[in-house]
Amino acid sequence: MRNTPAVAERLQAVRVRIARAARAAGREPGSIALLAVSKRQSVAAIEAARAAGQRAFGENYLQEALDKMDALPDFDGEWHFIGRLQSNKTRPVAERFDWVHTVDRGKLARRLSEQRPAGLAPLNICIQVNIDDDPAKAGCAPGEAAALVAQIRDLPRLRLRGLMCIPQADRDPAPAFAALAELGRELALDTLSMGMSGDLEAAVTAGSTLLRVGTAIFGPRD
Ligand SMILES: *Cc1c(COP(=O)(O)O)cnc(C)c1O
Repeated sequence: MRNTPAVAERLQAVRVRIARAARAAGREPGSIALLAVSKRQSVAAIEAARAAGQRAFGENYLQEALDKMDALPDFDGEWHFIGRLQSNKTRPVAERFDWVHTVDRGKLARRLSEQRPAGLAPLNICIQVNIDDDPAKAGCAPGEAAALVAQIRDLPRLRLRGLMCIPQADRDPAPAFAALAELGRELALDTLSMGMSGDLEAAVTAGSTLLRVGTAIFGPRD
C-alpha cells in the first residue's frame, strides 16, 4: 500500500488540471471522463486509484491486462482496451473488457461483435483514426472512418461511441485534436478519446470527452 497516498494525490492533481482546463474552455468539467492508463503499473496502484474514486482503467497489453483482472476478482470498475489489437487476439478482449478504443478495421469489429458474450452489455467501441497520417501509428485514415462507422453500427454486439487518436509525439497536438473533433462532428459522434498526461489541456480545449492519462496519475512506468 506504499502507493496509496501518492496515487490519490496525483489523481486529485489531475482532476484539478481537468477542471481548470474545462473552465478555461467554457466547458462543464463533468462532461469530461478520465481513463486511468495503468499499463506497466502494479495491481496495488490500480487498487489505490480505485479506492480514490477512479472508476475506468485502460490497458495496452492483453496478457498483462488479463493477469491484473485475475488478480482483482472483486474489481467493480470498467476496463478499457487501448492497445494494438491483433485479429487473432480479439476473443479475450470481447469477453473481458467494457470498451475498446483501438478498432481501425472492419475485420476487428466483426470478430469483436461475434465474440462478445450474449450475457454482457454490447461492447463500447471507439474508432482509432490516424489523424495526422503518421506512418508509425495504427488507425484508419480519416477518409475511411465513415465507412467503418456504418459497418460498426450494423454489428449487433457492439455500441459505437466515438473516435480516438494519438497525435505524433514530437509536435503541437492541437491541430490533430481539432481535426478529430471536426471529424466527430461530421460523423455525429459525441465521444472523443484524446489527450494524455502531457497534453490533456490542449485536448480539453479541442473538445475531448475522454482523457487517457497514465504517468500523471501513477508516476513513471516500470
Ligand atoms: C500509454 C498511453 C496513454 C497514457 O500516456 P501517459 O503519457 O502516460 O499519460 C494514453 N493513451 C494510449 C493509447 C497509451 O498507450
